[in-house]
Amino acid sequence: MPVTGFDLPPPIYDHRPSIPVIEHILSLEEVTKTCTPFLPPLPLGQSWLGCNLHRFVDGKEFCIIYRVANDRVKRHEQGHCNGWAGDHPSVEQVAKQAAELEFRKQEAYLKGKQNAVIAQAAEVKRDLMREVIVATPKRTLPQTPVLHPNTTNGLLPWPDNAPVTDLKQVLGIAK
Ligand SMILES: [Zn+2]
Repeated sequence: MPVTGFDLPPPIYDHRPSIPVIEHILSLEEVTKTCTPFLPPLPLGQSWLGCNLHRFVDGKEFCIIYRVANDRVKRHEQGHCNGWAGDHPSVEQVAKQAAELEFRKQEAYLKGKQNAVIAQAAEVKRDLMREVIVATPKRTLPQTPVLHPNTTNGLLPWPDNAPVTDLKQVLGIAK
């Protein structure tokens, strides 16, 4: 059943306005004429009972209500001034939305914490790498031996600084 202007807001919004309110009590025709530009199209033959506008002046929020002279309509519109959404969520929907918001906040908090831990771990790893790199003794690259081509056979000779004894040993094993 759709919510009408006579329906009361959920209890959490059904209290004295928490922001300054300017109320205009008008006839049904006047309310409809005033509210129509701000609201979705009205089915033929129906009238608006009230509407409200949130305005900021010098950073201060206040609420303007246009409504018929009826206490339930007053509470309905004041409920909107107190934060009741325009799609009229029920008590259950409000509670569900609040729980979802809390869950998402918690999730975001945990995700943030997780990311912080990951970042910290990466930092520790980087530091360790730095330590490993610093701790490694400096090594000089082996010098490339200078090769003098053999003029008789055209083959490259064994390098002058080759470990000859080792070579003989290797050749001996290879036989
Ligand atoms: Zn409403």
